[in-house]
Amino acid sequence: MRVRHKPWASDFIAEHSQYAIANPEQYKGKWNEVFGNNNPIHIEVGTGKGQFLTGMSVQNPDINYIGIELFDSVIVTALQKVVDLELPNMKLLNVNAKDLAEYFDENEIDRVYLNFSDPWPKPRHSKRRLTFKSFLALYEKILVKGGEIHFKTDNQGLFEFSLISFSEYGLQLKFLSLDLHNSDFEGNIMTEYEEKFSEKGQRIYRVEAKYMN
Ligand code: SAM
Repeated sequence: MRVRHKPWASDFIAEHSQYAIANPEQYKGKWNEVFGNNNPIHIEVGTGKGQFLTGMSVQNPDINYIGIELFDSVIVTALQKVVDLELPNMKLLNVNAKDLAEYFDENEIDRVYLNFSDPWPKPRHSKRRLTFKSFLALYEKILVKGGEIHFKTDNQGLFEFSLISFSEYGLQLKFLSLDLHNSDFEGNIMTEYEEKFSEKGQRIYRVEAKYMN
């Protein structure tokens, strides 16, 4: 993804530390205290500009949401939405997903969302895909028993790779759709990428993968 540098992003993030949490490692095992309740916590890895997660936060006030995004110049747009909506059940972390276990304790997270993750099409980059087995092990570490990954993409190659990766890891696949927008799935909230790709006529693939132990 091409990322446009925004020199003001770091200041805006620092000014809104009630939503964009600095030094998140200090809250490992204590995210319920941060939200002030014991509601389930769902994270989105690669939140981008935040349309999906802010939509989910509005739709489901009894679930807490945390968006994980690598680039400050991207997450700042998500933060703007959270600030405008004054969402009490959403936080943002400007961190790399490879370090998730530094920020979340075992059994602390109830669900992981992966939406339109970077496909990394070259075979030599397959380890970077967010559905590679090392990432599945990382999610398993922080998820509750029976926790789930909900995955959407427009990229057929990444979808096929991910289905194999989930299956080989022993995850149970549910509600597999090869054309989400022409399926009976209800309550879909579109991401920015989903809007862009579906406007071009591309199909959207979706699956839920559940850890079995
Ligand atoms: N989910 C959004 C959507 O559907 O509109 C954004 C999709 S964009 C293709 C992928 C996003 O994942 C980018 O914003 C990228 O910076 C972020 N990302 C990729 N690898 C990441 C990582 N290891 N940790 C955190 N964010 C990551």
